[in-house]
Amino acid sequence: TRLTRADLDGLPAYVPGRNLADLTRELGIAEAIKLASNEVPYGPLPGVVEAVTEAMLHSHRYPDMGAVELRGALGERYGVAPDRIVTGCGSVALTEILVKATCLPGDEIVYSWRSFEAYPIISAGAGATSVRVPNTAAHGHDLAAMADAITERTRLVFVCNPNNPTGTSVRTAEIDRFLADVPSDVLVVLDEAYREMVTDPEVPDGISTYADRPNVLVLRTMSKAWGLAGLRMGFLVAQPEVAGAIRKVLTPFSTSLVAQAAAMAALAQEAEVRRRCGLVVAERSRVTEALRKLHVDVPESQANFVWLPLGDQAAAFGAVCEGRGVIVRPFQGDGVRVTIGTPEENDAFLAAAEVALDQI
Ligand code: PMP
Repeated sequence: TRLTRADLDGLPAYVPGRNLADLTRELGIAEAIKLASNEVPYGPLPGVVEAVTEAMLHSHRYPDMGAVELRGALGERYGVAPDRIVTGCGSVALTEILVKATCLPGDEIVYSWRSFEAYPIISAGAGATSVRVPNTAAHGHDLAAMADAITERTRLVFVCNPNNPTGTSVRTAEIDRFLADVPSDVLVVLDEAYREMVTDPEVPDGISTYADRPNVLVLRTMSKAWGLAGLRMGFLVAQPEVAGAIRKVLTPFSTSLVAQAAAMAALAQEAEVRRRCGLVVAERSRVTEALRKLHVDVPESQANFVWLPLGDQAAAFGAVCEGRGVIVRPFQGDGVRVTIGTPEENDAFLAAAEVALDQI
């Protein structure tokens, strides 16, 4: 007898970055460096720890399930009515809920591959069929092929912009063309987890450019630029009917009291967020150039990580970096994703990369 679904047996697990404390202990060094999960390295924003501490005084009570105050603040910040916003326990949880609200078993979800590793896991969890469209030779989305991959069974298309893990992005003109080809009963999800790091003016802000379209939904996270990865806070912007349907299947109370308080405090720190993103962007250019000098064909990144298309040498490269105290994220057979850290962390990575490229 079996108690769980047989169809989940072959599903690859989500692989989180190697644990920092474990590696530090194993290598017996002062501190290992983690450049594997696309966090921004500058610590919690000012005021966040205080807001969380204050919220803890009320932690015997349930949080506001509708996150009314936070949705009001987000609505004001992003220029959309609060009834179009849904908050969740990280945008990955919202992705899961949105699949639940749109897909029945056998329905199809189209996405580019390689892209965010949660898409296949969440699709399979809902019994939906993943339709993976290979990335272009330049490691980006092939939007024309994605539009062609849509059938009557397609319910969702994920467009990860910028794309995790390759850092590539699709521009306004390409998205305009793509949306014109997508049937009106297919929901296009613009996953903009790294939006705050985008500097190319031709890469659109999905909320201001597309969120008014009936079949577009924009996903954002506060884990990256806003520094709340450990607190779990994401949100989506959709049409009121779509947002309402998603809200119906939300896990009750899944955005905690502390996450809501932290998000309010973070939103008040936007100038500091911009400053930090500026530092990350400057380092992104520096690391990209340094790797290109080492003859790695790094595609231009609009996110806070870079992609090394090392194919079958990805795992070996990752292992050498790890042995030198730098945790990166290899996707064997494909490439290695490296998060942009502080200048010192990036220097340590570049030194490890030089050795690794020599050895593999
Ligand atoms: N979307 C993309 C493209 C991501 O890279 C990530 C984080 N790795 C997420 C969504 C999820 O972020 P979170 O659940 O922390 O909000």
